[in-house]
Amino acid sequence: MSKTIISRKGWGSRGPRKPFSWLNKRRVQGIALHHSGVKNGPKGVAAVKAFERHHMDANGWNAIAYNWLVDEDGVIYEGRGAGVISAATRPYNSRTESICYTGDGDKAVPEKSLESIRWLIGDIQERYGQKLWVKGHRDLASTSCPGTWLYNWLQSGMGITRMPEPQEWDGIKAQIERLGAIVARKPLSRRRRSRGEAVRVAQERLKAIGIDPGPVDGVFGGRTRIAVLNFQRKYRDVLSVDGVIGRNTWKVLFS
Ligand SMILES: [Zn+2]
Repeated sequence: MSKTIISRKGWGSRGPRKPFSWLNKRRVQGIALHHSGVKNGPKGVAAVKAFERHHMDANGWNAIAYNWLVDEDGVIYEGRGAGVISAATRPYNSRTESICYTGDGDKAVPEKSLESIRWLIGDIQERYGQKLWVKGHRDLASTSCPGTWLYNWLQSGMGITRMPEPQEWDGIKAQIERLGAIVARKPLSRRRRSRGEAVRVAQERLKAIGIDPGPVDGVFGGRTRIAVLNFQRKYRDVLSVDGVIGRNTWKVLFS
């Protein structure tokens, strides 16, 4: 599925005061999610223009702060755009691309907007080889942004996996432990052509935390191996980066 992105020209941006600075692709670590934080603020293009005005005229910044914006109808706007250093996520501006939901993230966000945010995250991940974490602004600075509702949505796997009911948790914990014991004896890998329940559960988990393992099919293929490598790179202090799910990787994956 592809989406239309309204370009800077398309929404009538004033453009930057001076040329944009480019991100160093190897240094980029993540995606930061923001919201407007304004109750009953302007909608659609008007919201995007209001941000631009505020960021340039009141804050004195070079341009609208965000790389991307998504409005309440799910329309996607190019802010600074792909690969540009942004301004709203200090001190992570040169290590992230940022997305701003122009509505209020403290209230339920329309499904159309969530779908666009998900799509945008997937699109950014693709440009950076699926290696990025996705965090709310509040994980990176002292702020309530991107609002509690939107933040919880992000934390619970962006609606890709359903959050279990409280009484289901015990069963799930037991399942993870049982499979973990199996994995400790016989690690999961592409070379072994591992398949089955443990592989499927690991794929589901990777997907829920924003690392795309390919189809959740219980088959340890090339894309799952790349996802495992990306996961292990994030935790390279404690895990060896070998693309194999053994005792330790399983433990960190479900901790
Ligand atoms: Zn923010």
